[in-house]
Amino acid sequence: TELEPSLLPRPRRLLLLVNPFGGRGHALQYCHTHILPMITEADISYNLIQTERQNHARELVQAINLAEWDGIVIISGDGLLFEVINGLMERPDWEKAIKMPVGILPCGSGNALAGALNFNGGFEQAMGSELLLNCTLLLCRSIITPMDLVSVTTCSGTRCFSFLSVAWGFVSDVDIESEKYRHMGSARFTVGTMVRLASLRTYRGRLSYLPVTESHLHRSISRSITLAPNGSLSSFQRSPLHRTISDMGLCEERNVLFKRGSSILDTNELPSFDASPSPSPLNALQSSSFPFDSVPDDLAPQNHVLHGVGEPSPVRHMHGPPDDLLVPLSQPVPKNWVTVEGDFILMLALYQSHLGADLFTAPSAYFNDGLIHLFFVKAGITRAALVRLFLAMEKGTHFQLDCPHLHQFHVRAFRLEPLTRKGTLTVDGERVEYGPIQAQIHGSLSNLITG
Ligand code: ADP
Ligand code: MG
Repeated sequence: TELEPSLLPRPRRLLLLVNPFGGRGHALQYCHTHILPMITEADISYNLIQTERQNHARELVQAINLAEWDGIVIISGDGLLFEVINGLMERPDWEKAIKMPVGILPCGSGNALAGALNFNGGFEQAMGSELLLNCTLLLCRSIITPMDLVSVTTCSGTRCFSFLSVAWGFVSDVDIESEKYRHMGSARFTVGTMVRLASLRTYRGRLSYLPVTESHLHRSISRSITLAPNGSLSSFQRSPLHRTISDMGLCEERNVLFKRGSSILDTNELPSFDASPSPSPLNALQSSSFPFDSVPDDLAPQNHVLHGVGEPSPVRHMHGPPDDLLVPLSQPVPKNWVTVEGDFILMLALYQSHLGADLFTAPSAYFNDGLIHLFFVKAGITRAALVRLFLAMEKGTHFQLDCPHLHQFHVRAFRLEPLTRKGTLTVDGERVEYGPIQAQIHGSLSNLITG
């Protein structure tokens, strides 16, 4: 007897959005030589749309019929995914829309999320067409992992949703100033870094943050375990649990409750994991150390005891979940936050393992760890030491340098108040208005095609 066509599994339908000007402008060419042949082979049907201008993708996803698609895939750099995520969040049905799986195939100059996907997929760090092939393979496997988003509010009250980073100082300067070297592809960041090093700037500012608590960390670990697909956790060494535990065993973080040697979960209680060591890139992590020395006097924590307000009352917005950890920028931060003030070289809030395809900046970060990995480098660092940090970052070994100017904290929310009048701020590599800015994490708000 003949099967009802409706009973047959239908091929997956992906909406492919290509920015023909991303990176060195080779995205369309890569579609024909690399991407479409593999996707076709995997029995995936697709519609390919070329973006015609900035914000085109943002408008497109606001108008699509969600039921027609199994995923939206960006063929560009991180900037185009930022547009898509915000387009989905601007829909009246944002709660449903933001669950649409999104994917990325690296054809831009900034390919940080692709770097994280490549690492999570167990591949060696890669660039260019090798990175693209790895990511296309992963896309064809179509495994979906929840991904945290960070809600970012700027001084005018504008809110956007970020999947990658908020940067101030050195990192954002390089990102924006290197736009003119776009024709070089990802090499633009290397050149930009050299130029900015030659005239190193310091920025005065006040950085406040809400550290994670042990109970929150516990919850976020359990969540990663229950939600992660079986396939991607076949190796315990690659699991977010292992990463978090190695972190805890290796680091002592001020204001965070966990201590060296303490473990909050007994790994023996997790029979579903194969705990035998495997040759994963994370082996390198085990020998790395994460020194969180005390914050020096010039950046001493100043808890807002006098000005502290009580429990934050959520800031309301038209769309998207309320920011229950934030108070308006006009009010002092809640009293359980920590504040450091002083001269900085850079501030970076990162929630993916990679800041670029070859920048393994937050080795312990995982798509849905519920954490903002907050870094800052304070003034006083020599140019040579800063160069060493960036060079070591390629392998993720920058913390082994024991640089006293580098600090890292795991936080759920932060506020940055720049006190230097001029500067740049970026969200996911895109420039935003300069001034006080604050953000909080929304765990597992979106879905990412991780493979
Ligand atoms: P890259 O990593 O090379 O910067 P992105 O994906 O970040 O690549 O894209 C850079 C910018 O280009 C984004 O801000 C995006 O909005 C914009 N954009 C997208 N499509 C077009 C287009 N057709 N013409 C010009 N700009 C575009
Ligand atoms: Mg970009």
